[in-house]
Amino acid sequence: MVVRMRVNRSKTGKRRSHHAIAGQRLATCECGASRISHRACPQCGKYNGKIIIDIVAQSSRTARRAKRKQTELRAAGQSEETKEKETTKTA
Ligand SMILES: [Zn+2]
Repeated sequence: MVVRMRVNRSKTGKRRSHHAIAGQRLATCECGASRISHRACPQCGKYNGKIIIDIVAQSSRTARRAKRKQTELRAAGQSEETKEKETTKTA
């Protein structure tokens, strides 16, 4: 394929010099934490003054899931605690 109007590297570089991604626009929440604009606050779970995310329920859910995963790993013998014991035995 013949390139009829080849653009040189300098021209390409000059064009792409404006293609950099700008940083995220951060807004300050009413709770004081900085949040992404047009998104609910991850700290207090509010958006536009209304509670959107139930932070208390979410934190308890993640804790419960972590605990369950740990018990499953322990049952399978892949827990970090058991691994540490094994390494100390061999060393
Ligand atoms: Zn907030």
